[in-house]
Amino acid sequence: MSGLLEKLPARLSVNMYETDDGNSHIELHQEYLSQHQDVADMLVRVCPAHVYRYGSNGVLEAEFAACLECGTCAMLAPAEALTWHYPEGGMGIVYREG
Ligand code: SF4
Repeated sequence: MSGLLEKLPARLSVNMYETDDGNSHIELHQEYLSQHQDVADMLVRVCPAHVYRYGSNGVLEAEFAACLECGTCAMLAPAEALTWHYPEGGMGIVYREG
């Protein structure tokens, strides 16, 4: 198992991204998140691609271009916290190793 985890960064590095720069597929609902710090912190912890980070102003941000489209955040966060959908028009990640 640990061998697989050690190889993961190298395997992920061969993926390709077609980013839809002006059209994020992740919308954070800042009013809700500002009142539910536990949910915001959870998003930072669970995303394997480190999409969620706090900006210098302390507000949660989503670097959507790095999204692996695993769906973890959408499954764990309440609907009030964010809107998530697959990137439109075939954009997003292209896995090279299945
Ligand atoms: Fe991160 Fe997965 Fe959510 Fe994308 S779908 S933002 S990779 S947890």
